[in-house]
Amino acid sequence: MNEQLKSHLEFFEELGIDGVRLEPEWRMRREPAERIEPIEPTERVPSEPIEPAEPFEPKIALRVIREELGAHCSRCKLHTLGRTQVVFGVGNPSADLMFVGEAPGADEDIQGIPFVGRAGQLLTKIIEAIDLKREDVYIANVIKCRPPGNRNPEQDEVETCEPFLFQQIDTIKPKVIVALGTFAARALLRTLDPISRLRGRVYDYRGAKLIPTFHPAYLLRNPSSKREVWDDMKLARELLK
Ligand code: URA
Repeated sequence: MNEQLKSHLEFFEELGIDGVRLEPEWRMRREPAERIEPIEPTERVPSEPIEPAEPFEPKIALRVIREELGAHCSRCKLHTLGRTQVVFGVGNPSADLMFVGEAPGADEDIQGIPFVGRAGQLLTKIIEAIDLKREDVYIANVIKCRPPGNRNPEQDEVETCEPFLFQQIDTIKPKVIVALGTFAARALLRTLDPISRLRGRVYDYRGAKLIPTFHPAYLLRNPSSKREVWDDMKLARELLK
């Protein structure tokens, strides 16, 4: 069995979805038709994508944004507070699905890649549960440098850094954005509502459909919420069709 299928099935097991088997006979069974959850009416967030003056190929455009940000960015105080490196983003420059987290943690700060620690490994399983690979999607954070001791990013840090995320979104033009956790959802949707109030709805956002869901780090502490994340991922899969 290939690694992707194995981790897909493991994720279902962790979700507590009954009847998932690793054996080939089970995988060959006939499925009853899947009921498609009704999609809630979308909500409008007043933010329109910025069209670049000269359209570049997304891969090149992302490189330009990365260079403009700079490998040693010193626009906010985080560069003096122990960050190792800027963590720009990773994945398919033309992805239909984009995940946005909060900020790099310790592992991401060392490797320079978002979501590579324990929470990142769970995110990889979540992606594979909807039959995609990490390389198919794009993964970025609202802020690109690790806050000391993993504290929450501060307002001035967000305001300084988020224009680079907006440029990434406007370049990649995903169909669906999944905002991971309270912080990312609040920053993108410009609200102070908690994630528990924000999730379960779809928002129009910079030309994409935005789905807020729980952060994988929260799921590691509260595994029972995996069920809701699975609902959100099924919704994302529907919207990608
Ligand atoms: N948490 C985040 O929000 N982003 C990461 O890249 C890693 C952990």
